[in-house]
Amino acid sequence: MAYSYLSHLECSKCTKAYDASQVLNQCACGAPLLVRYDLELAMRHLRPHEMARRSGSLWRYHELLPVQKADNIVTLGEGMTPMLPLVKTGDYLGLNHLYLKDEGLMPTGSFKARGAAVGISRAKELGIHTITMPTNGNAGAAWALYAARAGIRASIVMPEDAPEITRRECIASGADVHLVQGLISDAGRITNTAAAEKGWFDTSTMNEPYRLEGKKTMGFEIAEYFAWDAPDVILYPTGGGVGLIGIYKAMLELRSLGWLEGGRMPRLVAVQAAGCAPIVQAYKQGKTESEFWPDALTIAFGITVPKALGDFLVLEAIRETNGCALSVTDEEILHWQRRLAREEGLFVCPEGAATAAAAARLAADGWIAHGERVVLLNTGTGLKYPNTFEMGNAPVLEPGDELPG
Ligand SMILES: *Cc1c(COP(=O)(O)O)cnc(C)c1O
Ligand SMILES: [Zn+2]
Repeated sequence: MAYSYLSHLECSKCTKAYDASQVLNQCACGAPLLVRYDLELAMRHLRPHEMARRSGSLWRYHELLPVQKADNIVTLGEGMTPMLPLVKTGDYLGLNHLYLKDEGLMPTGSFKARGAAVGISRAKELGIHTITMPTNGNAGAAWALYAARAGIRASIVMPEDAPEITRRECIASGADVHLVQGLISDAGRITNTAAAEKGWFDTSTMNEPYRLEGKKTMGFEIAEYFAWDAPDVILYPTGGGVGLIGIYKAMLELRSLGWLEGGRMPRLVAVQAAGCAPIVQAYKQGKTESEFWPDALTIAFGITVPKALGDFLVLEAIRETNGCALSVTDEEILHWQRRLAREEGLFVCPEGAATAAAAARLAADGWIAHGERVVLLNTGTGLKYPNTFEMGNAPVLEPGDELPG
């Protein structure tokens, strides 16, 4: 039995096939490459219930991941994050089965560790020495730390305004860090040129086939949690959209394997911030691609992506699953961030809070029905964005004072 059923790379637009042992970014046509597996063979040798006996990390799905030798795995213990029922919030919204999958518990504090673990492991397997990438913070931190563990050099470019902690993580890892006076799209132009000129491997979003495979494991874990059944609705805070495309790819692969109960797909919902909602706009206008969003600004920094390379794949995933796309305001995000802390004990990131705000809207207008199983993705820990929570004005006591009330 193979460790991985990796077969080849395939263009997401023109379907041209490539040998997966080459170091590749995009297809010659400029579209992202997707990893394909020999699912027929996997179906013959693999059973879903075997997974339950395996390690509590995303590597339990190694046959459906691209790394071909276990020795090449670079791990910090990523995956199998908890699925937490939100009972009080569900009661409040009239949803009987509301859950939050908490990626705040991942190494490096965000779900970006999934993409980094698989991407860096595969980079190591392919003999890559230096990677370069633009980031809004969390991806850079994750890739820099996994690269450090793998002994791969990392060159990271991030906007000056990226959360300070993520910059510190990159510097702590020994990566070369540069700041840009601009957005992630500006950082991307710089790393792109560097990769072309210096022969470094560009691992920017959807410009590298393996990161998506790591993020796909969120979909596997969700399906496994529900005993190999998809929930009705999954809400995802969408920036570059890799997570949502990954969950969709996971569900399609599980369906091909015959592992998904009744072959039912979840309705996928892309949640964006009102200050940067190119995919929502494209969805509403019935377009297959988004337009560059000018002057993008929101406190949910991880989803400040004015134009995503994989936008057409996000839109396809939403439409194919009868999902939808909607944006929420920063006020709603802050409200829900506090509410989840108070009511559920969850210190979520603004991006995660955006999915709760979106669920509230969709429940109110009946798009989600009471009895449906709904999963919110909290993509990172609130600890990464301490400034979105107020300190408040706690009264100061003298030693020896008594507590009032
Ligand atoms: C990167 C990031 C996102 C958006 O992820 P995509 O999969 O690229 O859309 C959401 N939340 C957080 C915390 C992030 O760091
Ligand atoms: Zn192509």
